[in-house]
Amino acid sequence: MKLGTKFIHAGVEPDPTTGAIMTPIYQTSTYVQEAPAKHKGYEYARSQNPTRTALEKAYAEIENGKFGLAFSSGVAATDAVLKLLEPGNEVIAGNDMYGGTYRLFTKVFEKFGIRFHYVNMGDPANVKQHINSNTKLIWAETPTNPLMNIADIAALATIAQGSNVLLCVDNTFATPYLQNPLDLGADIVMHSATKYLGGHSDVIQGALMMNDADLREKLYFIQKSCGAVPGPMDCFLVLRGIKTLHIRMQRHSENGAKIAHWLRNNPKVAKVYWCGFEDHPGYAVAKEQMRDFGGMMSFTLKDDSVDIAKKVLSSTKLFALAESLGGVESLINHPATMTHASIPREERIKNGLTDSLIRLSVGIEDAEDLIADLQQAIG
Ligand SMILES: *Cc1c(COP(=O)(O)O)cnc(C)c1O
Repeated sequence: MKLGTKFIHAGVEPDPTTGAIMTPIYQTSTYVQEAPAKHKGYEYARSQNPTRTALEKAYAEIENGKFGLAFSSGVAATDAVLKLLEPGNEVIAGNDMYGGTYRLFTKVFEKFGIRFHYVNMGDPANVKQHINSNTKLIWAETPTNPLMNIADIAALATIAQGSNVLLCVDNTFATPYLQNPLDLGADIVMHSATKYLGGHSDVIQGALMMNDADLREKLYFIQKSCGAVPGPMDCFLVLRGIKTLHIRMQRHSENGAKIAHWLRNNPKVAKVYWCGFEDHPGYAVAKEQMRDFGGMMSFTLKDDSVDIAKKVLSSTKLFALAESLGGVESLINHPATMTHASIPREERIKNGLTDSLIRLSVGIEDAEDLIADLQQAIG
């Protein structure tokens, strides 16, 4: 089955009681049982909800996995994966990943005795170097936020499998339209469904997808024991979002390519970070493991100052100044003062996150209008 057909039909069957083509929002906390422990598979809504069941089936199908699990946010999904570990275990993670993941690792899980190594995942050798008998998890994000670095998922999977380590890939930026980490050997895929899967900036949600039944049981146990489950309305919204993922991602990618090239030719722009440029260090791997390059990018200005960057950020009219990404509307963000402000300045600049770096989540408006907006803002 091709991608568009899969995204439209994933997980969804007409409602058995009425034939409703859209999965109903089962807004209930509990289910009436015929006799003690005699029920229809639904006991209490933290453990099971039919709207969530449909979405979890959809999650599995869109990532070519056997199982899907839905969580109340992307970080709740990450939290569930980390709860597979025990004190003394070690994790190898990327050194430029989503700030909230870094915060969860350093501020919450370190104090429970989990040890983290942060490495440049652009070279799989950096990961291999930190593997020892305590290593239990490799946490990869590709492309990364905000510098669009690429990690070779198949190479990481080979290292993980050879050492009996789990590989979890945060596939939020790429989406299953552009990249399928399970097919490349990853054990778990994580998504912030808040972003492209939901796609309309109207829901917070997270997802995990996997093939191994034991792993699914362990993660389901954590999901119901810790209780970070999404409500049925939110599940409905993500189910609806997934149906248009392919046409949205096509347009995000088309607009992304046009804007990345336009920025690169702008005399006021110093550097554009977008993994679709042939001279991007991760281009060959990106071309191999992704179907297209998406609409996320960052750029710096030749005049590298916070003030000039702030002027640009305050002057766009279509690009809304906001955190988050992946919705139909275009967003602009200043990592130095917004999403990545918690990283000390020297540390930030060492990793290429300079004062004038501006991140774009290119939406699905008409590219000409978006370019005109950037033109008047950059001046
Ligand atoms: C937003 C985001 C998350 C966290 O997801 P929430 O839904 O905000 O909890 C994790 N990873 C990436 C890459 C993200 O962009």
